[in-house]
Amino acid sequence: MLRLLLSLLVCLSAVTAQDRYERLMRDILIFDAHIDTPRYFVDEGYRLADEHGYYELDIPRMKKGKLGAVLFGIYAQPGDYAPQLWLPRSIECLEALHREIKTNRADMEFAWSATDIERIHKSGKLAALASLEGGHLIADSTRVLGAFHRLGIRYMTLAHFKTNNFADSMTDVEVHNGLSTFGKDLVREMNRIGMMVDVSHISDKAVLDAVETSKAPVLASHSSVKAISPIARNMPDEVIKAVARKGGVICINFHAGYLDPKAYDVYMKNRPARDQEIKEVLAMRANDPSKWELVRGIQRKYYAQMPKVSYKVLLQHIDHIAKIAGPDHVALGSDFDGVSGMVPVGMEDVSKYPVLVKGLMEMGYNDTDIRKIMGLNIVRVLRAAEEAAEK
Ligand SMILES: [Zn+2]
Repeated sequence: MLRLLLSLLVCLSAVTAQDRYERLMRDILIFDAHIDTPRYFVDEGYRLADEHGYYELDIPRMKKGKLGAVLFGIYAQPGDYAPQLWLPRSIECLEALHREIKTNRADMEFAWSATDIERIHKSGKLAALASLEGGHLIADSTRVLGAFHRLGIRYMTLAHFKTNNFADSMTDVEVHNGLSTFGKDLVREMNRIGMMVDVSHISDKAVLDAVETSKAPVLASHSSVKAISPIARNMPDEVIKAVARKGGVICINFHAGYLDPKAYDVYMKNRPARDQEIKEVLAMRANDPSKWELVRGIQRKYYAQMPKVSYKVLLQHIDHIAKIAGPDHVALGSDFDGVSGMVPVGMEDVSKYPVLVKGLMEMGYNDTDIRKIMGLNIVRVLRAAEEAAEK
């Protein structure tokens, strides 16, 4: 009798869990703060309307994953492009993004504000936003920054992989001891125009300077947890807590090499050989469009040598921040299409976000917190940046 009762209870809770999941999925806003697809529009004629067996975002997979909003990353890596190309390359990618959204207007719409995101999400389309990765892209001019804001850029990462005139990068030499005076002025200017300040990629001291200088909460658009995976690109607990104290949010990066230090070791050991092979293919086949498939083949070969990292590790990173800083201060910033295919198992592309909803439910999170983590925390920080702007 007891056994019967127990199995009945198990059955019942499975039914209610499935009901709860379906209810959540009906209108949850899933928002990713960092996806790097736009350069593929420019370089490879990649089209969002088609379903692909490579890269991580297109409309058919986005629909499967119930993705509701994306901050698309615009960038030109300082090491990959000559300085005179940083600005034109960024504008080219941003223009390509706007055109791609217009072409697919039945499925997506450009969002200029937090209120836009909510309206577009309600209409059943994807809200697409744009961001700029690295202060080196604005030619050291706050007017260029202002122009980018008018073109739709809603956050700028203060520095990318290299230290610039504004901020020390966490993967380069420290020359400013955090933010320079110019960098602090830049943060104030971003507050004035209502652009979010992104503190991913910059040194710990630079993050603390940005938090102290900024009137509005800041965002780390794609950063994971150093206490779990002690590598340079991840954020230590005291910095996470400082971002949270000011109302900000840390969006977890899905890069398998960032989530797991063992995967990182293999990635770093292989990177010089991988990059050399890619460079040779690109040089030898400059005018051959098949070169991109060859590049992906090289990326796949090296990815296969990395230890497999489950999407459950990603959930641990989320849980860590929720535990030390609160569920209001963690969100998603996959870095999809910017991680050279090094994705976690079970979270291979944008069709997979629902497994995170299920995972958070299993970990005991309530619906309100799941909604915040899956998207609303980023909307809150964007709205706060808008409210801090000079009227
Ligand atoms: Zn990045």
